[in-house]
Amino acid sequence: MFRPWFVILFALWAAPRAMALEHVTFRHEGAEREVVGEVLVTAADGGILLLAADGVMWAIEPDDLLKRFDDAAKLSPLTPEEMGRQLLADLPAGFDVYTTNHYVICHDTSREYAAWCGALFERLYRGFTNYWSRKGLKLEEPRFPLVAVIFSSREAYARYAKAELGEAADSIVGYYSFRTNRITMCDLTGVQSLRASGDRRSSEAQINLMLSRPEAEHSVATIIHEATHQIAFNSGLQTRFADIPLWVSEGLAVFFETPDLASARGWRTIGALHRNRLTQFRQYLATRPSTSLKTLIADDKRLRDTRTSLDAYAEAWALNYYLLNHHPRQYAEYLKLLSAKPPLVWDDPETRLTEFQQAFGKNLSQLDADFLRYMQRLK
Ligand SMILES: [Zn+2]
Repeated sequence: MFRPWFVILFALWAAPRAMALEHVTFRHEGAEREVVGEVLVTAADGGILLLAADGVMWAIEPDDLLKRFDDAAKLSPLTPEEMGRQLLADLPAGFDVYTTNHYVICHDTSREYAAWCGALFERLYRGFTNYWSRKGLKLEEPRFPLVAVIFSSREAYARYAKAELGEAADSIVGYYSFRTNRITMCDLTGVQSLRASGDRRSSEAQINLMLSRPEAEHSVATIIHEATHQIAFNSGLQTRFADIPLWVSEGLAVFFETPDLASARGWRTIGALHRNRLTQFRQYLATRPSTSLKTLIADDKRLRDTRTSLDAYAEAWALNYYLLNHHPRQYAEYLKLLSAKPPLVWDDPETRLTEFQQAFGKNLSQLDADFLRYMQRLK
């Protein structure tokens, strides 16, 4: 999920990165709080974007900033053990920690379900990094342990998620937050609509059985989608709060989420044809204006507006699918360019279009014709 509150808060802010360790005291929800971290951005008015050792980013407005001083030390990210302990202290009672190679999973579900999610995430992580390395993009190991918080109860999840998602928490089964860098989700096997009577959720085989049913397809895809965002923003492919065009970040997440019901474990393949999105895109073609590619690339409006987002997501997926299959080298170069974008600096539509056209070396209408031909031929 992308919550664009920073866009408003930090518009026009830009300053060079300072990498000393800073001790910052500020007002937060009526209390004083000290956070130690790297100041990523300092605004002209004195507000800052602070990255803490747990990977959380704090946007601190000048009025709330009480004290700051730096020392020569460098930020050392929390170890998985420290991260687990800190998360447990913040979560309601009853949570436990399950750790994998890259992930710290806090859960009040069964250990088997946490393990199932851990294996799914690690499979995605391997698939993701291999995919890009075959395309010539070498990704970095995540700087922070990747955190997922899993609630066994849908209601407890929604209560917890409401602070970040608002009312949408009732209809979304999981999300990734730029601010906390975490995935928060509920136990999909506990979602009533996905349970058949007599289901027990105690073994890996049972979990596989439940989550490979067609009814679970959308929920599993959502979790893969959010986990893809998290990996992309922790592997150097994208920077949190940088101006990554939404058609890229969302289109890629949809590209990776493609459900695969042939897999007994809910998800396996990267880059398979996404049937639902293809159908949506083909329906959109009937009314698609000739400026569609341009408006998709130039800014994020169509993807953010709920009236147009379904078509725009389908088109973003289609464009990613086309570019990755038809112009893989250029697309990798384009992603490299985007990966160098600093946080909180916003490009204008002109820049977006120019960078896109420079990357793909064609005029837009030629590329559009080629794109449509390619998508219409797919079976
Ligand atoms: Zn997304």
